[in-house]
Amino acid sequence: MITLVRASEICDNKLLTLESDFQQRAREWLHKMQEISVYPLIYCGFRSFTEQDALYAQGRTKAGRIVTKARGGQSYHNYGLAYDWVALRENPKNRGFYESDWDNDGAYRIGDAIGHALKITPIEWESGHMQDARYKKFSDIPAKGTTKAVQAFAENIETKKPSFFSSWKSR
Ligand SMILES: [Zn+2]
Repeated sequence: MITLVRASEICDNKLLTLESDFQQRAREWLHKMQEISVYPLIYCGFRSFTEQDALYAQGRTKAGRIVTKARGGQSYHNYGLAYDWVALRENPKNRGFYESDWDNDGAYRIGDAIGHALKITPIEWESGHMQDARYKKFSDIPAKGTTKAVQAFAENIETKKPSFFSSWKSR
C-alpha cells in the first residue's frame, strides 16, 4: 500500500521516461483524471528492447504466463510512447493508504475517454495500457533518434522498482 504522495512520485518518474510530446499529453491526462478524483498509478513507461524481450520470453521460453504479444522493438513502450496504469483505491481500514484496483472497469472507461481527447488510445487486449494515437501501428513510429534519445534519458532515471511492484501483475 502506498500514499498518494508516493504514488505521484512514481507517476512522475515514469512520465519522465516518455517521449516529450507524448509525455506532455500523458501528464495532462493524469491531471484530468485526478481532477475528477480518479487516482491512476502509472507503473510502467519506457521499456528497453532487452526488457521487452525478457517479457516476451515469459510464458514461452521461460516460466510464467504470457503477458505480452510484442518482442523488443514491437511495443510502443520501447519508444517511450506508452504507459500502463491502474486506478488506486483507499484502503478502508487504513486511511491515507492506497492499493491497486485492477478490476475497476469504470476507471478504465474514464481513462479511455479522457485519453481520446488527448490522442492517447487504449488497446483492446490490455486494460490500463495507453499509447500514442499518432501512430496506428508500431512500425509507423519514426524510431530513429527518438529511440536513442528516449533510451539514453530513461536509463538515467530511476529504473529500480520498489519492492511492492514484484507482487503486481506485469503488463
Ligand atoms: Zn503496456
